[in-house]
Amino acid sequence: MEYRENRGQTTFYARKNVVCPRFFTVFKRGTYIKQIMNSDITNCARCSFQVADRICRTDGGKHPDNCPTLLKAELAEEVLAEYQKTDNFEFARQASIQEKDGYSNRDQGYEKVRPAKPRIEEIIDFIAKMGYRKIGMAFCIGLRKEAGMVEKIFSSRGLEMVSAICKIGRVPKEALGLTDDEKISVGTFESMCNPILQAEVLNREKTEFNILLGLCVGHDSLFFKYAEAPCSVLAVKDRVTGHNPLAAVYTLDSYYRALK
Ligand code: SF4
Repeated sequence: MEYRENRGQTTFYARKNVVCPRFFTVFKRGTYIKQIMNSDITNCARCSFQVADRICRTDGGKHPDNCPTLLKAELAEEVLAEYQKTDNFEFARQASIQEKDGYSNRDQGYEKVRPAKPRIEEIIDFIAKMGYRKIGMAFCIGLRKEAGMVEKIFSSRGLEMVSAICKIGRVPKEALGLTDDEKISVGTFESMCNPILQAEVLNREKTEFNILLGLCVGHDSLFFKYAEAPCSVLAVKDRVTGHNPLAAVYTLDSYYRALK
């Protein structure tokens, strides 16, 4: 590899396929790689060791220099105390049991385990494990049909449902300073998505657990920020892929190569 200046940034230029000695990432011949300035920054997504060999899975396992399992050991100790808090302990314990329940064939060894349940069933199971009775659902108007079906699935199991649509309140987009050409349908009245109101309605109903169904990017963030009960996501919105955002990631080497 050789250093080059590229648009004001120091980069590595890979003359052939090489493995980065620091981050153990394979860089393809002919690519520029931006220099990572702070080597202590956690970046597990770039860890290139086999899962079973990693130090976060195996005592004495392999790790890059910036491995947080080593560098953040003190923080890990501190955080462990958080799990001992009454609210967190049972929640985390049941979440771990739920993780295990997501697999069948466990008696045949790790190589033979198979996924056992779709996410909606996992959510139902987790709610039962935690003994929740009152469930909130914040959904997108674009997924109103799905929301109706999901509501029936949950309420038919004896759960009390409180659901709030994204357009709740019919507040005009002008309240956010939007102009006509910043609307989907130019020149018409449009209700803004109102995730803070969705959250406040569920908060006042004292829901014990909230499910998100198809909220937009950013609207979901505000819902998380204001919701008081713990939340889980049944589905995220992806208008192009039928709400399967990983479809674009899975096809990164073909149809979505422009994203690379
Ligand atoms: S914790 Fe360390 S070993 Fe585990 S994925 Fe992150 S960098 Fe890799």
